[in-house]
Amino acid sequence: MIYPIVKYGHPVLEQRGADVTEFDTPELHKLIEDMFESMYAAKGVGLAAPQIGVGQRLAVIDTSIGEDPAAKILLINPEILHMEGSQKSEEGCLSIPTFREQVNRPKKVTVRAQDATGKPFEMTGEDLLARAFLHETDHLHGKLYISHVSALKRDLIRRKIRKLQKLGEWD
Ligand SMILES: [Zn+2]
Repeated sequence: MIYPIVKYGHPVLEQRGADVTEFDTPELHKLIEDMFESMYAAKGVGLAAPQIGVGQRLAVIDTSIGEDPAAKILLINPEILHMEGSQKSEEGCLSIPTFREQVNRPKKVTVRAQDATGKPFEMTGEDLLARAFLHETDHLHGKLYISHVSALKRDLIRRKIRKLQKLGEWD
């Protein structure tokens, strides 16, 4: 099932998700499948459960956008373990469509998470994958990428979004 993506302004995006405590259930497997499907439909490289209105700490990532099955990553209850270096690149978010901003991020990131059976694992990514680890883990802490841009730019984005909301073009 393809879920609609929840947009900026919805409280679920700015709340910490609940830790996933039940693993390997049919409900969890269905949610994971739906999240990959919803991410591909939206042409994103990552999707966190709050973005489909589910306040739980799980996210999916695929930096190949469906081209390489080996690039599919599932993160449950992720925490960032290690970061190094820096990279500057444009970042966007499916929940803040049409906007993109330059965001400084560490270049190399190690994340610790659990898989669908609850088994813990660690994974290190660089460049776009490092950015995705940080962006999605932020989502699960109720944090959006615009918290990493200047207050001036963030206010500008918020003002533009408020205008779109008034016009009924942002729901
Ligand atoms: Zn996002």
